[in-house]
Amino acid sequence: MANLLELHGVTKIYSRGLIHAKENVALRDFSLTLKEDEPTILTVAGESGSGKTTLAMLLLGFIDATEGQILYNGKDISTLRGKQRLAYRREVQAVFQDPFAVFNPFYTVDHLLTVPIRRFKLAQSKAAAREKMDEALTAVGLRPEDVLGRFPHQLSGGQRQRINVARALLLRPRLLVADEPVSMVDASLRASILETLRNLQRDYGVSIIYITHDLTTAYHIAKSIIVLYRGAVMEAGDVDAVIKDPQHPYTRLLVDSIPWPDLDQRWGEHSIIAREADETGEGCPFRGRCPSAMDVCKTRPPLFEIGSHQTASCFLYSNKPEIVSDRLSQLLPA
Ligand code: SF4
Repeated sequence: MANLLELHGVTKIYSRGLIHAKENVALRDFSLTLKEDEPTILTVAGESGSGKTTLAMLLLGFIDATEGQILYNGKDISTLRGKQRLAYRREVQAVFQDPFAVFNPFYTVDHLLTVPIRRFKLAQSKAAAREKMDEALTAVGLRPEDVLGRFPHQLSGGQRQRINVARALLLRPRLLVADEPVSMVDASLRASILETLRNLQRDYGVSIIYITHDLTTAYHIAKSIIVLYRGAVMEAGDVDAVIKDPQHPYTRLLVDSIPWPDLDQRWGEHSIIAREADETGEGCPFRGRCPSAMDVCKTRPPLFEIGSHQTASCFLYSNKPEIVSDRLSQLLPA
């Protein structure tokens, strides 16, 4: 079966300063495969500074990897030119956090939707363009007559974010990179926007990489999850296994900080140690905060296979089989 997207050992390093340049590894040795015929929803979760937004920028082709390769339909995206580059731009779409940022206050919704139709020559006539707009708006749960002809300030945050999703959908994407798409939307509207994304995956066969700091939304939308910390994979696998039974000390802390409506669960059970972070880049990136840190953690832990759909980068599991990062996707459920 062909692969839609492959990331092989992708590393992104930012340098600061000219003479004594300081390097910051935003993403380290990240590998992932999405199959063409198995559209899925994968969450990439982590705090700010975890590398998740760098990953989104790399996937969208906004920045280049320092090491490693990103292949789309088997072709290295850094080598795409002309028609192939345009096709990639059309097929890989983004929905960003801020539903207000992409709107020009002086233009109506129609204008926002017409621009991609014109740019990618998606319709031959005004009537055909209107039909496409109606279809995309309906697919995201909006009634075209409620939003077309209106200005951004006349719409709610939830409506604007749905219009952003509709705009991406117009282009018939194969992959949607959704970077914190509900974090600036009222809590009451989050569930319905997540449901809209799930419908896109199911009804339109769009694979979605859902990037978030919020494990509760990850739990509701995705089948699989990758947890990042300081640019490295801490834990990954089936979303149910990772969130209900986290194995990595960092994932445990993240899950522990979720205010679940469960009276038996004690909030903040796991203590957070506020030691200085490991700046050497050699050991486990979580060593500075880890309650279980050991001497061996001064070296970087590989990924260990904990179960058929769960892996963690932690020496607590050094009795389990080691896996190379390129095999990570095989542990993620489709
Ligand atoms: Fe903690 Fe060591 Fe595991 Fe890192 S490798 S999470 S420091 S026990």
